[in-house]
Amino acid sequence: MAEKLRFQVVSEAFKRQPVEVKVPAERPSEYFSKYVFDKQKMYKYLPAKVYRKMRDVIENGAVFDRTIADEVAEGIKKWAMELGVTHYTHWFQPLTEGTAEKHDGFVEHDWKGGMVEEFEGKLLVQQEPDASSFPNGGIRSTFEARGYSAWDPTSPVFVIGDTLMIPTIFISYTGEALDYKVPLKKALYAVDKAATAVAQYFNPDVTKVISNLGWEQEYFLVDESLYLARPDLIMTGRTLMGHDSAKNQQMDDHYFGSIPERVENYMRDIEIQALELGIPCKTRHNEVAPNQFELAPIFEETNLAVDHNMLMMSIMKRVARKHGFRCLLHEKPFKGINGSGKHNNWSLATNTGVLLHAPGKTPEDNLRFVVFTVETLKGVYDHNGLLKASIMSATNSHRLGAHEAPPAIISSFLGRTVTDLLEHVENCDDNAFTMSGKTSYQLNLPSLPELLIDNTDRNRTSPFAFTGNRFEFRAVGSEANCASAMLTLNTAVAEALTSFKQRVDALIDKGESKNTAILKIVREDIKYVKPIIFNGNGYGEEWKQEAARRGLDCDTCAPSIFDRYLDEESVKMFESMNVMTRKELAARNEIKWETYTKKIQIESRIFGDLCLNHIIPVVTKYQSMLIDNVSKVISIFPKEKADKISKENLILIERISDHESFIIENVHKMIEARKVANRIESEREKAMAYHDTVAPLLESIRYHVDKLETIVDDEAWPLPKYRELLFIR
Ligand code: ADP
Ligand code: MG
Repeated sequence: MAEKLRFQVVSEAFKRQPVEVKVPAERPSEYFSKYVFDKQKMYKYLPAKVYRKMRDVIENGAVFDRTIADEVAEGIKKWAMELGVTHYTHWFQPLTEGTAEKHDGFVEHDWKGGMVEEFEGKLLVQQEPDASSFPNGGIRSTFEARGYSAWDPTSPVFVIGDTLMIPTIFISYTGEALDYKVPLKKALYAVDKAATAVAQYFNPDVTKVISNLGWEQEYFLVDESLYLARPDLIMTGRTLMGHDSAKNQQMDDHYFGSIPERVENYMRDIEIQALELGIPCKTRHNEVAPNQFELAPIFEETNLAVDHNMLMMSIMKRVARKHGFRCLLHEKPFKGINGSGKHNNWSLATNTGVLLHAPGKTPEDNLRFVVFTVETLKGVYDHNGLLKASIMSATNSHRLGAHEAPPAIISSFLGRTVTDLLEHVENCDDNAFTMSGKTSYQLNLPSLPELLIDNTDRNRTSPFAFTGNRFEFRAVGSEANCASAMLTLNTAVAEALTSFKQRVDALIDKGESKNTAILKIVREDIKYVKPIIFNGNGYGEEWKQEAARRGLDCDTCAPSIFDRYLDEESVKMFESMNVMTRKELAARNEIKWETYTKKIQIESRIFGDLCLNHIIPVVTKYQSMLIDNVSKVISIFPKEKADKISKENLILIERISDHESFIIENVHKMIEARKVANRIESEREKAMAYHDTVAPLLESIRYHVDKLETIVDDEAWPLPKYRELLFIR
């Protein structure tokens, strides 16, 4: 019986004990990167000349020379076999939001009747997995199912259990990207090129610009037994029904609160495993909602940081089971409390220092800071709709604009100091900018405190906030692959910097001095980017109106937000920066619409089942009990008295009927709506139909289910309630 199951799982959950964690004897600094074939191991396991070549590939972007592949593979095999490794896999990031792997053993025939461990260079460098089972948006014709995975040497190989993991890119037979890594790497190359050229105005020694990413991963933990009693959580990662718990986050007592022991052990466990895999974990704390937590490593080069986030998400899910938890990465697992995001702290740094650092000591430093800040804003402004598309998904759309997360409008918070600084540069006397003289140069900038922006000057409601030496892109979804946001942002900034350089050079060609030219153009752009700067409350209703007046993209409908990828200015940006072609963009959009549809379709199906097979039977039974009670009352009491006694129950019986009929009627309406939508050919129109006709019914029906939860006998309710799911003991 359902009711028995609920009490059984709740008591199992409440009795569960913390799981001991095996803490290594060494210090974290000693076991850090233990299972990664990093530079130290390359030095140890590779011949000197091969090691030097590998460093050149990793540090300077030199081409990986296939002639050394065999020697690299041999070194990796030796190291891996010392760790007991028997298998290897190419590890890639298809357009499914997860990672993919296909394991092969090292063993080969030795042709003497036995076996031998072998790992040749060609197996390290390239594989041909069948691409037909991965989303490709129609790029690949059915008769040519081949896809290639190719090693990305800038992301080191690592070992999990008995398997050597080789990070790879994934492309189609015809060369189009079928993953997130290819366009990400191209975007990083584009921003390096564009930013280096501009950075050289200020410092000719700059030869390389690196994009950094520091992600903060939010997540929920739910006890495993409770999770397993919630088919909606199992199938969709979120609860599709459930009335608010009396206590949730209103006391603000969870945020930064003390961490329950079971959870602390879990955190310790995932951090040890992450550190061993070279992920530099640093921060852990409770988040705002009950059972919500956060983990953040130190920032790294963006390509590596993206891989590490993907790896971390899989570690988090795997290790959770060992501790009797399930880790929920969904953006909105519970209604009525905060959802989860993944803040992407982004910055640019050169081989000589940081670029977005708080205004520095010299005027040149300050002007450089202003240029990079303003051009970043220009990229974000020009492509604000596209950036929103880059973080949009069926799941993240629940979180954006829900009074807990940034609205579905991209704007940037700069804070007082930087806003004042830009205003100053825009308005100050031209003569103040005689940059040429070593002696008399006076930029006359307001003196800035060492610590540019302290925590009081933080705006938590902004989707793209400047936080001292970086921008924090807060609208990214907790479940998403950061690559989607990062490749778009870096490409947009690359485009802005490229145009900046062209315009400055044009003035220089006309005889302007370099500094005057820079100043002229940056002033032009300071005026231009004003609409994207917003320091106020992003949750406010007024902001939505103001943003629309400013011409910012205010669309909230996920499937039509994806259209931004195919806007002419987006295609132009991606093509001119050599990141993606129109064909690739169109193919990716097909996948986005298809994924959107499937997510809502699965939610709608499981929700319909839960309503009809779990909730309605229990409710009907309870209602019959009430009816039975009323008729018995009538049979033993005189009418007037019976009416009085049965009054409340009669009201309840009626209310239950109202809710029930709404639910049943609308579940059938929802099924019909799905049928109509499923017949639509175009992926876009199908997704729109799911958005317009199916998704709203999930919400309106849920209201009635949640009401019933407060009416029906607690003992009879089949699904674990919010108050049980949300408070780990
Ligand atoms: P908060 O929650 O206050 O925003 P956290 O310490 O939780 O800060 O996380 C901040 C993240 O930003 C960390 O990953 C940190 O390494 C990263 N970070 C710090 N400086 C930079 C930078 N210059 N570029 C990119 N990321 C950075
Ligand atoms: Mg943060």
